[in-house]
Amino acid sequence: MKQIFVVIICCGLLSCSQQKQFPKGIEHVVVIGLDGLSSTGFHAATKPCMDSLMHQGAYNYKVRCILPSVSTPNWNAMLCGAGPEITGAVNNSWKAQDFSFPYPVMSQSHSFPNIFRIIREQKPDAELGAIYQWNGFHNLLEDELLNMSKTYPTQLETAQKSAEYILDKKPNFLFIQLDDIDHEGHSAGHMSSKYVDFIEETDGHVKLIVDAIRKAGIADKTLIIIVSDHGGIFHGHGGNTYDELTTPIIFAGKGVKNNYLIKQQIYKYDLAADVVFALGLKAPQVWVGRPTRPAYQGFDEPDNLWQDLDVLPSPRYASENYTSPFSGTFGDEATVTILPPEGTKGEIRYTTDESVPNRTSPVYTGPFTVNTTTVVNAKMFNESGESVKVTATYIKQ
Ligand SMILES: [Zn+2]
Repeated sequence: MKQIFVVIICCGLLSCSQQKQFPKGIEHVVVIGLDGLSSTGFHAATKPCMDSLMHQGAYNYKVRCILPSVSTPNWNAMLCGAGPEITGAVNNSWKAQDFSFPYPVMSQSHSFPNIFRIIREQKPDAELGAIYQWNGFHNLLEDELLNMSKTYPTQLETAQKSAEYILDKKPNFLFIQLDDIDHEGHSAGHMSSKYVDFIEETDGHVKLIVDAIRKAGIADKTLIIIVSDHGGIFHGHGGNTYDELTTPIIFAGKGVKNNYLIKQQIYKYDLAADVVFALGLKAPQVWVGRPTRPAYQGFDEPDNLWQDLDVLPSPRYASENYTSPFSGTFGDEATVTILPPEGTKGEIRYTTDESVPNRTSPVYTGPFTVNTTTVVNAKMFNESGESVKVTATYIKQ
């Protein structure tokens, strides 16, 4: 009798720990990837659909990019659960199955195991799709693992075809990549009004996809994840500034906490682990990424969070046409205008003697003029932390 009792207790404990191992009831995961969306841009834009997903879901504004901060290394890290030092995806010309780089492990088809392979192995009948506006995204895929892999030339069409596919096939996993925000960052400049407008327009395209999930009748068993590959600054990206390296993420739908700011640090390569975790599947040990467990009801933040000082977004120098102000020249005098980062409270402090601003440096209260060659350093400060310094050099001709 005692033995039976012990066995029953053990089974009870086991089923309890198994219940907590994965979120329950998620049968579909739809990832919506918005190319070139920085956290700074996200804060600046009016975006009712994404805001409502955030309020019903869990989110974070400090997802860290893979270096370099360009598309292929970052999208591929999301698909492969590992960075370029492991997969070889170091630039935008990389291709899956190229095998010019020695991955630590390899599939029969000469690839590093990505999300699609892991789902296909563990759920052979799963409906898996990728629909992408940037045709370079196709380089990251092995079509034989997917039921649907297509590119469309416009963002609207990519969103519409994604919506049709959701209604028609109710995919278990769908990765959608929309490219317009990045285009506008390159042409009009990051944080230009056109860039922010395109985030607002993209919100409407995200809504088409979210509405399709509802119309397909799968909203109560679907997890939506909104991600970006990188941000940008001036007319590009690829560098190491806060605005290039820092992007938002939203988890919404089945099993996700409501209106919850995730504290756990999230990296690009965590996404692969997020998807297989949500679907209750096992991630391969060779992946580096960790699932964002605290996004889900019944899962706590890790007890080893390391939080000392916050790294804040940097202020920006206003510059004509969103070009770099780092070596601007002027005639009689130049006006220095420093803009606070969107969505962050605090004060900007600056120096003009080439020293690094600290908490006793002058507070920036508005535009000022310089009439000799001047190096301006500025930093954002508040009670919880500070930004890295940003420098602009105004050269008298
Ligand atoms: Zn990109």
